[in-house]
Amino acid sequence: MGTYCSVIKFENLQELKRLCHWGPIIALGVIAICSTVAMIDSVLWYWPLHTTGGSVNFIMLINWTIMILYNYFNAMFVGPGFVPLGWKPENSQDSMYLQYCKVCQAYKAPRSHHCRKCNRCVMKMDHHCPWINNCCGYQNHASFTLFLLLAPLGCIHAAFIFIMTMYTQLYNRLSFGWNTVRIDMSAARRDPLPIVPFGLAAFAATLFALGLAIGTTIAVGMLFFIQMKTILRNKTSIESWIEEKIEQLKQKADKRVRSVRYKVIEDYSGACCPLNKGIKTFFTSPCTEEPRIRLKKGEFILATRGLRYWLYGDKLLDDSFIEGVSRMRGWFPRNCVEKCPCDAETDQAPEGEKKNR
Ligand SMILES: [Zn+2]
Ligand SMILES: [Zn+2]
Repeated sequence: MGTYCSVIKFENLQELKRLCHWGPIIALGVIAICSTVAMIDSVLWYWPLHTTGGSVNFIMLINWTIMILYNYFNAMFVGPGFVPLGWKPENSQDSMYLQYCKVCQAYKAPRSHHCRKCNRCVMKMDHHCPWINNCCGYQNHASFTLFLLLAPLGCIHAAFIFIMTMYTQLYNRLSFGWNTVRIDMSAARRDPLPIVPFGLAAFAATLFALGLAIGTTIAVGMLFFIQMKTILRNKTSIESWIEEKIEQLKQKADKRVRSVRYKVIEDYSGACCPLNKGIKTFFTSPCTEEPRIRLKKGEFILATRGLRYWLYGDKLLDDSFIEGVSRMRGWFPRNCVEKCPCDAETDQAPEGEKKNR
């Protein structure tokens, strides 16, 4: 499975279709603009090639561009690696541990997931990335992560060039008057004079490229940190999400076990600090934005937590009038209710609650 679709086949022109999508178009556009403007700015104005520093700087810029594009195209064209259609585990008994994908007509190998966009089961799937218009998974995780590291570094270098170009070119031309800032574009005071003067178009292009470079540094840099977390935990984004869901479900189940059924013995208006329920109830009203619920004598409530004089829970609604209302949940005074004597089976979710979920 390792070599499965791991080689870039240039005869496989179908893969080139991946470029026709907003993600790659924008990403490649940003790379093209930033690197071109950075090279033009350095060569013409900020750091000419005849200086040693200028040459090194130029080579570095080309280097960033090549490395970024190499990893970007690798991530896009090598792809994540798909589980072969109709795949079965070698030992047929192992299939009992695996899920089956009806679309791919195959068992899902451990850590693989079906991607709806790719319409295939993806090995060790992390996520479907619109920027490479492909999934990020087993085979391209490394190039993808390298791209996420190199892109911000290259952008920082470019941003430095943009800022220094604008600063050195504009410094002598700025004049500050009363309430106005003037830029005198005709007077370049640089020795020796650059072949092409730094005009308004160059200024606009540099400023635009600077915006792109800073935006990319922040956005892609954040993605890199998220990706590093994923790698250090050895848990794909999907796996973290599944774990979180399981944890939430567990907590919900716990809550259901702890909940107690109460019967309403006194009406309650739903007021925040009710005057007729005793002075302690009045003064200990919970300080939250969570709602209060109105109670009517004879109703049932499933309480999940409480304070000394207040309880929080769900009203067990009568099926006849709950159409449209999914649930009523909130705080109510403890002295308006009494524990159901009949309740030996509180650990089972009562009928009403099951239906409302
Ligand atoms: Zn599948
Ligand atoms: Zn995908």
